[in-house]
Amino acid sequence: MRRAATMPRLSSCWLLLWCACTAAPSQAEWIAEQQNKMGTRVEVQFWAGDLTRSESDELMKRAMAEFDRIEADMSTYRPDSMLSAVNDRAATMAVPVSSELSALLIDALRLSVLTQGAFDITYASVGQYYDYRARQRPGADVLEAALPGINYRQVDVSADPPAVRFEHAGVRVDLGGIAKGHAVEKVAALLRKAGIEHALVTAGGDTQLLGDRRGAPWIVGVRDPDQPKGLVTRMALADEAISTSGDYERFFIEDDVRYHHILDPSTGESAGAVRSVTVIGPKATLTDGYATSLFVMGPDEGLQLINSIPEYEALIVLPGRSLRFSDGLDPR
Ligand code: ADP
Ligand code: MG
Repeated sequence: MRRAATMPRLSSCWLLLWCACTAAPSQAEWIAEQQNKMGTRVEVQFWAGDLTRSESDELMKRAMAEFDRIEADMSTYRPDSMLSAVNDRAATMAVPVSSELSALLIDALRLSVLTQGAFDITYASVGQYYDYRARQRPGADVLEAALPGINYRQVDVSADPPAVRFEHAGVRVDLGGIAKGHAVEKVAALLRKAGIEHALVTAGGDTQLLGDRRGAPWIVGVRDPDQPKGLVTRMALADEAISTSGDYERFFIEDDVRYHHILDPSTGESAGAVRSVTVIGPKATLTDGYATSLFVMGPDEGLQLINSIPEYEALIVLPGRSLRFSDGLDPR
């Protein structure tokens, strides 16, 4: 939904005259828009400050186009994306990619090393056989045959020239655990470069904030895993990123077992120790990657890891709705 005053309807010659006689006024208001992108709802809000209406409209278009650009390169739902070309051909040749994609893949592989494989983009070697909407999951035979494809060490990424090669057939990668964080970070950077000082950029569970809400912090709610409109807590934030990974985003329940979209790479099955993980820190690419990682690692190992990383904090919702916090978060 968009908040902006409507332009008066003038004939074209009146419009020209009006433009010639008056400097376009700045609008000094919040501009906000939501659209469906990257398989989720994205939202951009910014304080227009000195920008004119047409300048802020143009900036909003560029922000939304940035999501489209990243989705066109990195979605595995698009057969013509750069990442789909990697999945189709990297087992037989080094597939050239953009330097942005190779850098993000290198970030993802670093995260795999740091989390000892809890975060692993080759989860998709098995993940491709789940369809949560259709309530489908791989049978035991398919799982057993596909599981050796999960191992980030089988992905070779070169930065210069940017290219990707898989060491074996049967490997498939997917950036669902990190690409939305990357996208909101890039869109916020675009706004900052255009002079914006106060903004919120969200894609599903990943948000990058610029500044505060002009004198007050942004208030970001952490969802109750069992109630779409309920919150377990709220956080007051400025100039930070925040990501939540939960077992309630894409799932189905069969025989009382919840099959959801975050897989434990060691088994190829949904990770079950926690209900959601929220990570706060400077960069959304990392809050996104850490949230997925901690979800797989579980509360003890996960909090130990995040406590060792400066500037990043976590809040974990356990089954039964009890909460655990990293050392730097004040539960109040
Ligand atoms: P979302 O915002 O879509 O809920 P999350 O950041 O919570 O995303 O991550 C879930 C997504 O991460 C899954 O949909 C899948 O694409 C990907 N994924 C699942 N398991 C793993 C894993 N072990 N390592 C890396 N990525 C994963
Ligand atoms: Mg994530």
